[in-house]
Amino acid sequence: SLVPDLAALRADFPLLDREIDGHPVVYLDSGATSQKPRIVLDAEREFLERENAAVHRGAHTLAAEATIRFEDAREAVAGFVGAPAEQLVWTSGATAGLNLLAYGIGNATAGRGGAASAHLALRPGDEIVVTEAEHHANLIPWQELAARTGAVVRAIPVHDDGTLDLDAARALIGPRTRVVAFTHVSNVLGIVNPVAELVALAHGVGALAVLDACQSAPHLPLDLPALGVDAAVFSGHKMLGPYGVGALYGTAELLEALPPFLTGGSMITTVTLEGAEYLPPPQRFEAGTQPVSQAVALAAAARYLDGIGMARVRDHEHELERRLRDGLREIPGVRLLGDADVERVGLASFDVAGVHAHDVGQYLDARGIAVRVGHHCAQPLHRRFGVTATVRASTHVYNTSADVDALVEGVAGVRAFFGADA
Ligand code: PMP
Repeated sequence: SLVPDLAALRADFPLLDREIDGHPVVYLDSGATSQKPRIVLDAEREFLERENAAVHRGAHTLAAEATIRFEDAREAVAGFVGAPAEQLVWTSGATAGLNLLAYGIGNATAGRGGAASAHLALRPGDEIVVTEAEHHANLIPWQELAARTGAVVRAIPVHDDGTLDLDAARALIGPRTRVVAFTHVSNVLGIVNPVAELVALAHGVGALAVLDACQSAPHLPLDLPALGVDAAVFSGHKMLGPYGVGALYGTAELLEALPPFLTGGSMITTVTLEGAEYLPPPQRFEAGTQPVSQAVALAAAARYLDGIGMARVRDHEHELERRLRDGLREIPGVRLLGDADVERVGLASFDVAGVHAHDVGQYLDARGIAVRVGHHCAQPLHRRFGVTATVRASTHVYNTSADVDALVEGVAGVRAFFGADA
């Protein structure tokens, strides 16, 4: 393995000690949510035990300390994706970040940001371009925005091998395109999309480039300013951190112009009964009490990942991914979705001829193997491949080649068990 002492690393994750029905757990569902190292759990508990207080207010020592820890966490998580702290907005996760953007643009369209936001406003017939491979979180908020503004959502199709049809993208992205919102890594295919090309196409027509980094931030070295995107979102729980916290990254220019989505306490300067003036970003987008202990723990997760080195995380998972697809491809009746040999993360979805994905999942679960089954919140992509459900195996840095072998061996037994060979 490219991770020097994988056994020691695994010992950092209490859950990996679990047994399921007498089998050691083989956790291959990190695409849904990752396991957490003890250092992350400790960071949250220690903050709550020693420093917990309301941030950005109050004159007491605890409030001052908590504020420092909270803002240090912002700097650490921003640094993890190559960004300055003031360009990182806390959210409850990727879904919340994408809604913040879509509703912010909707508010600009309604004139709520005044002249400073007017260039973000959509007109009827304007186009929002997504891809056929989007998670519902990067599709429905744009559909809702389109419904409210008269804009139209169009989708870049996916080739049979899972890669995006860039010729179609070039034809689709044009003078009416105002937003190009796409996933960095598909949560069904595991394929890393060509960010630079899509950003160039978006910026070539003056559109915003919005990146769903939910499946890339946990697995790849990431420098969001270098990628040139206008905004990006990710979730803490998929990158060894806690639930209920994530982030929106935005360029200074976009965050400056974007009207807020949620409003209320902690995001204002002056309030009268008639109206309010808002703080500058990032606070303008952080109405209400923030997930403070979770942010502190997410910073611990980012430091833990940086301690391993994200290049090493990527390379380790790349090895697992190759072993996984090579193994599955050999099994009669197994079809991998989008099997292109391009840059990928450790994630693959497949179907087994004659056996429902849910049955495959239960068969594997009886052997201690945890995978995800269903449409993985990407129904349009499943429809495009002519299936309603698939089985998805996904790794993180703590997975071993033995985990992958157990999965492949398990899947190899499925069709005989269900009599699908006949
Ligand atoms: N986008 C992608 C690509 C995802 O995989 C996920 C989570 N499955 C999301 C968005 C939504 O993330 P969350 O549920 O943490 O908000």
